[in-house]
Amino acid sequence: MSLISAEITGYLEKSSWIRKMFEAGIALKKEFGEDAVCDFSLGNPDLPAPPAVGEALRKVADNADKPFAFGYMPNGGFPWAREALAKQVSEEQGYAVEAGDLLLSCGAAGALNAFFRAVLEAGDEVIAVAPFFVEYGFYVSNHRGVFKTAMSRPDTFELDIDAVEAQITVKTRVLIINSPNNPTGVVYSKEELEALGAMLERKSAENGRPIFLISDEPYRFLAFDGITVPSVLPIYPYSAVVSSFSKNLSLAGERVGYICLSPRMEERAMLMGALTLTNRILGFVNPPVIGQHIMAHALGFQVDVDVYARRRDAMAEVLAEAGYEFSMPKGAFYFFPKAPGGDDVEFCRVLMEEKVLAVPGSGFGGPGYFRLTFCVGEEVIRRSAAGFAKAIAKFK
Ligand code: PLP
Repeated sequence: MSLISAEITGYLEKSSWIRKMFEAGIALKKEFGEDAVCDFSLGNPDLPAPPAVGEALRKVADNADKPFAFGYMPNGGFPWAREALAKQVSEEQGYAVEAGDLLLSCGAAGALNAFFRAVLEAGDEVIAVAPFFVEYGFYVSNHRGVFKTAMSRPDTFELDIDAVEAQITVKTRVLIINSPNNPTGVVYSKEELEALGAMLERKSAENGRPIFLISDEPYRFLAFDGITVPSVLPIYPYSAVVSSFSKNLSLAGERVGYICLSPRMEERAMLMGALTLTNRILGFVNPPVIGQHIMAHALGFQVDVDVYARRRDAMAEVLAEAGYEFSMPKGAFYFFPKAPGGDDVEFCRVLMEEKVLAVPGSGFGGPGYFRLTFCVGEEVIRRSAAGFAKAIAKFK
């Protein structure tokens, strides 16, 4: 007698690579001790939150006895929180948005689910540019959508607009891009986004209904070497930015995110009404109270990004020294090197023998590569050098 649905049974049996590595990591650490294992498998931000986060919490505690301090609120978040966020988003995007253009959610993950619930008919297609954040496929099928992927350019992972266009059918409803990218670290240029927008306008007209463009941007704050991350909002009318404070404030467990619609989308009030409803009926009800207080107080602050920059340099040094092929990440906290020997699953197994944990690219729709996260101290990165060198030597 099965207690769970066939679909979820299938997911559990396949179980994500990140999960597998997480479990393997626990076992290795138990056997050899924490310090013997170099774990680059999880993207859980380890830097301390900026002091503004603690200040906000103390203020919340001081007001905890006020009526409705932790009560329900409008399903899209406190009006004051949306006002404050609109100012910040306008600055970050270089494009003016208003409180009514955005809604607060339970993380970027909650925003994506609310969006898919609001716009997808059963069988509608959602395309993600590969390699992609693993959870997208689950979110799409949560809402009866069909998940498809379009590969980016080999090795550079730049947008391949023809490859995206080749995946578009009359059922295409959403294209999702992620820049700075998890897992590749690529940042798309303004020219790439403009060409993408032009293609989507043409295909939307052909289809007789808009194809939405979602730009998933939780790593916007983390672009290196002075690179700016261009905004999709002025480029394409049916665009939306999804983001959160999980990474820039190291607040991943507190679940505060948002979705902001392009002010160029004339009918956006209707879509915002739908998102407010779906945010509620998916069971999120409203974004977290404490998280909104933290967000509003800490807007404009972020974790010390120089630490991530130093780790990136250290990791690049370790990988280059050992002879790995990779492109330097322009943003986010991941490397996506080529797997020596070509078989990413086998290579990660070999790395694990050296007590180095990485995730095979196959899990992200990028076979032949593997992902390393630099959410660990520089000393762990330096310590991993011997393991990386030994692992690659087995394929030479
Ligand atoms: N999108 C990408 C590309 C991510 O890497 C993550 C988290 O790792 C998310 C969305 C989800 O973030 P949140 O914690 O805001 O739900």
